Amino acid sequence: MRIQTFGDSVLRQRAAPVDEVTPEIRAICERMVEAMVRADGVGLAAPQIGVSKRIIVLDVDGDFHILINPELVATSGAVEESSEGCLSVPGVAALVPRRTEATIRGTTLDGNTVEVTGEGLLARAIQHEMDHLDGRLFLDHLSPAKRQSLLKAYRRSQTDEEK
Ligand code: ZN
Repeated sequence: MRIQTFGDSVLRQRAAPVDEVTPEIRAICERMVEAMVRADGVGLAAPQIGVSKRIIVLDVDGDFHILINPELVATSGAVEESSEGCLSVPGVAALVPRRTEATIRGTTLDGNTVEVTGEGLLARAIQHEMDHLDGRLFLDHLSPAKRQSLLKAYRRSQTDEEK
């Protein structure tokens, strides 16, 4: 399964809410978990596998969640810069400012409403995946100059790979 990469329009769309957990939605979740595990990622959003729906999966230090229609409840704590990358912009990373604590509320596949609160890497992953559902990428948080240089490095790494 191909992970959508920078330039694919689905990554820039606002994903649609899920009306009902159907077998199709379950299958999408399975594919997302599979893609996340295979890429050794800490999170994945449905648009990254080409599905413009509001679903995210998270797996930070064994803290595993599949959340449907997640909403950001709160972010708090300090704003910290830490290295961040994205499976959809492979091969590059940048220091991205994020709040150190974040809470989201979403629905599980069993139909239960749950809240997930994270600090540090989990908080970062939560904010990163929520961004994907609104068509934002981590590089959108960078200054224009830093974004330019990141994209230059990214394009260079992609060209090298094709050789
Ligand atoms: Zn990402």
